[in-house]
Amino acid sequence: MNLRQELTQGGYCAGFTSEEKDPEEFLNVIMQQVLGLEPLLKLKSEGHKDQECYCHQIFIDPDDELLVPTVQQLVERSFHSNHLKLTEVPSCFIIQMPRFGKSYKMFEKIIPSLELDITDLLSESPRGCFVCDELATQECEDCFKDKLFSKTGLKQFCDTCWTQVHSQASRRRHVPLALRCPAGYEGGRRAGVPRERMQLFAVLCIETSHYVSFVKYGPQNSDWMFFDSMSDRHGGESGYNIPSVTACPEVGQYMDIPPAQLAKQSGRDMAGVAKRQFCDAYMYLYQNPRMAVYK
Ligand SMILES: [Zn+2]
Ligand SMILES: [Zn+2]
Repeated sequence: MNLRQELTQGGYCAGFTSEEKDPEEFLNVIMQQVLGLEPLLKLKSEGHKDQECYCHQIFIDPDDELLVPTVQQLVERSFHSNHLKLTEVPSCFIIQMPRFGKSYKMFEKIIPSLELDITDLLSESPRGCFVCDELATQECEDCFKDKLFSKTGLKQFCDTCWTQVHSQASRRRHVPLALRCPAGYEGGRRAGVPRERMQLFAVLCIETSHYVSFVKYGPQNSDWMFFDSMSDRHGGESGYNIPSVTACPEVGQYMDIPPAQLAKQSGRDMAGVAKRQFCDAYMYLYQNPRMAVYK
């Protein structure tokens, strides 16, 4: 409450002590106005002015094929359908799911990708050919939706693989998007194109109107803890909430289950607090420890 009062008195935003606020509103005020941080995300969309923001809201068309998506798939689809690219590697990548409180959620369950590979989301960075891993020269937005190809990963090709893949009648009309590679880059051949990955460090969840969070505190699959600011209550109207932090290693056991099997798993039967992370996720927070050194 002290923090809420400070934010109101500081004139950053009205209503922090009396109204419900969305986490992104709160985070934006903290990052932009209080900490004076530069926007975390610098985005580019062909033909539009560059955009800067602190969070990315997933925005995709419903797809019956995608039953239980991973965060990786959702980010790729959101960038693909909005023609977005990152112009630089972010130190922190905050991603909002397509859901709105208890009234709407697009997916029953989402698999939290522990690592988010952003190599192919970067606008001017070397990318490996989807088929042979040589340096790619062009991307195909149509092949991204081709059901014969893998469900994860954008689809870019070297000249040879582009010609072969697009010699098939159904793909002849695909339009190549030329890729720009940093001047002087000559890697790619044997060494392979370096990948740029971000690590998941927290998940914010909401079931009805109360937010809870998960924090990944170590490298093991089971290194998770759970925070609930209203885990218990002392006294009646004039009482107070009792917050709690608990270890929740049970979350890890669901990370590697194949999506088809996870789709069948009833949320109610999931161990401990795992259901809350897999079924109620609202926001995923990723970090890039290397970039965080500079920013
Ligand atoms: Zn190739
Ligand atoms: Zn294509």
